[in-house]
Amino acid sequence: PTAIIVATGKGAQHGILIKDAESLEKLAKVTTIVTDKTGTITNGTPEVTDVIAFDNQTEESVLQLLASLESKSEHPIANAIIKKANNLKIELLNTNEFQIIEGKGLKSTINNNQYFAGNKKLLQDLNITFDFSILDKYTEQGKTPVILLNDHAVLGIVYVADSLKESVPNVIKSLHKQGLKVVMLTGDNSKTAKYIANQAGIDNFYAEVLPVDKAKIIKELQGKGEIVAMLGDGVNDAPALVQADIGIAMGTGTDVAIESASITLLKGDFTKVLDAVKLSKISLRVIKQNLFWAFAYNILGIPIAAGLFYPFFGLLLSPIFAGAAMALSSVTVVANSLRLKTIKL
Ligand code: ADP
Ligand code: MG
Repeated sequence: PTAIIVATGKGAQHGILIKDAESLEKLAKVTTIVTDKTGTITNGTPEVTDVIAFDNQTEESVLQLLASLESKSEHPIANAIIKKANNLKIELLNTNEFQIIEGKGLKSTINNNQYFAGNKKLLQDLNITFDFSILDKYTEQGKTPVILLNDHAVLGIVYVADSLKESVPNVIKSLHKQGLKVVMLTGDNSKTAKYIANQAGIDNFYAEVLPVDKAKIIKELQGKGEIVAMLGDGVNDAPALVQADIGIAMGTGTDVAIESASITLLKGDFTKVLDAVKLSKISLRVIKQNLFWAFAYNILGIPIAAGLFYPFFGLLLSPIFAGAAMALSSVTVVANSLRLKTIKL
């Protein structure tokens, strides 16, 4: 417990908030790191890059409808679109009956007309035929399409792009060097996911994953004997954060994610993942050393104090020394744990 308390304090000083001590011990044994994309390895502040209008729409009307629909959403995509509309001084319309369609987008009504905004899966659910290959040119550049539609046709597409956190490629390299597997999970489409995964140096990724399936994939990995740490920030990551052996949330993420995780990285600093693993490994080493010292004193001291060696060597232990030795074993453990304060992360 002393080692854990000192390590927890050390973590806090370095922006690693550890909620339960068990996760600190488990992290040292982790074999696979699973990470969310949006907001975890990307900055989570996407920007609108292209606006495409269909039929009798204009770029402005597409943005107006879409930004109005998104005004009740908390998704990073929504922020990007609303910001763009604000910059262009486009006035938002009143919406009603707002509803999130998990992992796919949202729906809402404007002037009693039903509108939807979202991805490929949403169109498939609505049985709207659409040539998705026109998206490829953009998705291959890492852009995410947000498709605007009413209940029978596509009205326009807005593309948003999010940038990779600068530190990510190096952190991934270090994790690989330590023999850890890294897997990316995202609700985004597979071409966009591939682009980001390539940039990050992650070769194993799952795209177009629904929130419940994020947890399922983690369960599968655990079934194969992997000890999994999950990194995430969104409401959609919460089930996976709970399912993982160690849930790690970005401090910049949603409250639900932070509540579901056992470790939180302040400011969403991705490099802290490495520090957390290092802290965990050193703590575990100190715990093992402590156990050794606590036992070694007693294994040696108790037989001497009991007079076991008296018949052979005339060796006895004065109660005064015995008492001192007893105290010394505790002092050793505490002193050894305090060493954790001086380690460099
Ligand atoms: P992720 O955070 O990994 O993108 P989500 O489950 O939040 O995962 O979203 C999955 C996909 O659903 C998004 O990539 C996007 O295509 C679509 N989507 C989610 N929320 C919205 C929204 N508010 N507006 C438009 N599309 C959305
Ligand atoms: Mg996310």
